[in-house]
Amino acid sequence: MPAPARVLLLMATHTYRAGAFLEAATRLGLAVAVGSEEAHALTHLNPAGHLAVDFHDLEGATDRIVEFAAGYPLDAIVSTDDEGVVLASMASEALALTHNPLVAVRKARDKYQTRQALAAAGMRTPEFRRFSIDDDPARAAREVGYPCVVKPLALAASRGVMRADNPDEFVTAFERLAALLHSLDLGDGHPSQSTQRQILAEGFISGFEVAVEGLLAQGDLTVLAIFDKPDPLDGPFFEETIYITPSRHPAAVQDDIIRTTRQAVAALGLTEGPIHAELRVNERGPWILEVAPRSIGGYCSRALRFGIDTGLEELILQQALGLALTSTLPATPASGVMMIPIPKAGILCEVQGMREAQHVPGIDEIRLTIPVGQPVVPLPEGSQYLGFIFARGQDPAGVEAALRQSHIGLKFIIEPPEGASSPQAKTVHG
Ligand code: ADP
Ligand code: CA
Repeated sequence: MPAPARVLLLMATHTYRAGAFLEAATRLGLAVAVGSEEAHALTHLNPAGHLAVDFHDLEGATDRIVEFAAGYPLDAIVSTDDEGVVLASMASEALALTHNPLVAVRKARDKYQTRQALAAAGMRTPEFRRFSIDDDPARAAREVGYPCVVKPLALAASRGVMRADNPDEFVTAFERLAALLHSLDLGDGHPSQSTQRQILAEGFISGFEVAVEGLLAQGDLTVLAIFDKPDPLDGPFFEETIYITPSRHPAAVQDDIIRTTRQAVAALGLTEGPIHAELRVNERGPWILEVAPRSIGGYCSRALRFGIDTGLEELILQQALGLALTSTLPATPASGVMMIPIPKAGILCEVQGMREAQHVPGIDEIRLTIPVGQPVVPLPEGSQYLGFIFARGQDPAGVEAALRQSHIGLKFIIEPPEGASSPQAKTVHG
């Protein structure tokens, strides 16, 4: 029997995607190695199964992967999250595996470079301008139009993204984002330092929003789903909540969305693997927000099943290995997910109403992601959701209603952190 194909999964330390990708690999009978930034305590027991790589030291990590592949030949390298996509491209290049061009991934990972590439390709783009976090906010405020959106270049989940309708709001948003980026500062000489120290301001695009999940092979895009986002996203912060597929927008609008996504993929030069694109649509047509060279984040991919019961991750692995895709047809007429936003900062003390919320007809599953007792931080500084609610059914409206009803029944008791009134006081537990 030939040896099974081996795939290297590059996983961010805080990934939600591990379970789904490992399960998919098992279903496909693949040998798996996990590349992550943390040295694994059990690596020596299973040297074929794990390697520690620094996603930011691209050359060093690529050398490590090439060395690893000499002992354990690799047939594909797949990054499960944003953090590993550049390394996946570089290491695949070194091993002559199918991959996205490095320049394309770098552009897609950087919101300023994305805007430049889309504008250069003649695509609809708001006015945009890049600043350093050390620039004078009052001066920057005079150099942009309003309303505008202030955002980091390479974070995700709307973290640090804020709307400003006038120069005063701009200064507040700018300072708030600069403080967030300072708090994430990874230290001098760090390669991602430059994007961490920059702020993008771009014109606010009115309209409704959609997400497109797709899979590229040799530059050809297969659209797997268009998700509607039925909650308005007009700021000042941009909490993701409900995603529903199939889209309820008219076919002509959906065609336009797909055409625009294809143009953006070409403008960026992406050719292989999953994409997660986000667009806003108004009377002038669709506008690209971003095209991420990865699949949908968090646990959201659970809202997508194909054929009889194939997950998105199986399709991604099949594509990466050049195998035929099981099916790209949706398994159910409609499905959706709600990312449960964090309403306020504090300590999550209790979650009430889980049983009722789970029993709402159409609800598949509720996955809470922050353990009771842990601190929770809302947008724009936070980067997590309280959990995910999944639903499916015969039609998008029913799925949306089920998600809303389930969410209403859930009560998250969040108390101010101990000593919140006196920030100096630190509780010491023996
Ligand atoms: P992230 O990578 O953190 O998700 P995005 O650029 O996708 O950052 O922005 C997050 C959200 O902020 C978008 O989904 C959208 O709702 C809103 N947003 C971002 N840019 C704009 C814009 N120019 N106009 C209107 N809304 C925007
Ligand atoms: Ca986004």
